[in-house]
Amino acid sequence: MKIFTTILILFVSNIIVAQTASLFGKIIDSRKAEPVPFAAITINHQAQKGLSGWGSKTTNADDKGWFRIDSLKEGDYSIIITAVGYLAKTYPVITFKKDTVILLEADLYVPCKYDDKKNDPTCPKCHKKNKVVPIVYGLPVGELDEDNYYYAGCEISLCDPNWYCKRDKTKF
Ligand SMILES: [Zn+2]
Repeated sequence: MKIFTTILILFVSNIIVAQTASLFGKIIDSRKAEPVPFAAITINHQAQKGLSGWGSKTTNADDKGWFRIDSLKEGDYSIIITAVGYLAKTYPVITFKKDTVILLEADLYVPCKYDDKKNDPTCPKCHKKNKVVPIVYGLPVGELDEDNYYYAGCEISLCDPNWYCKRDKTKF
């Protein structure tokens, strides 16, 4: 009778331990360094070796930015975090081992209006590129090359223009 009981307990605890990994974390606004409330966290199990993944789980952070997802099986997961007014953040592969809790502090960025012109030096005013130079931030090293660059000083935010049109004196 005693042996039976011990085996039963091991068996039960084995089930509980072997299948639980958890994801626990907080969502932060990268600019304000404040929590982002009610972000959506979606975790997708990755298919591997011919086996399909079991699917996905979604949860929402609370009003202080905290979230937790339990009862995850061992394996590789991708994580996508979305919140209204922020760029989505993706973690392509995070590996969960059994009986572990992974802590995640995710910082979300507010989209920058200059991002879509980052690789396109076409001036929005004159629609030409021939008087457009890259904007340089920070202290220049050595001589200033003001023909080919626009030096904008050290004041940077998380959303700054990338190009300067000398014809229109426009930053974009
Ligand atoms: Zn222009």
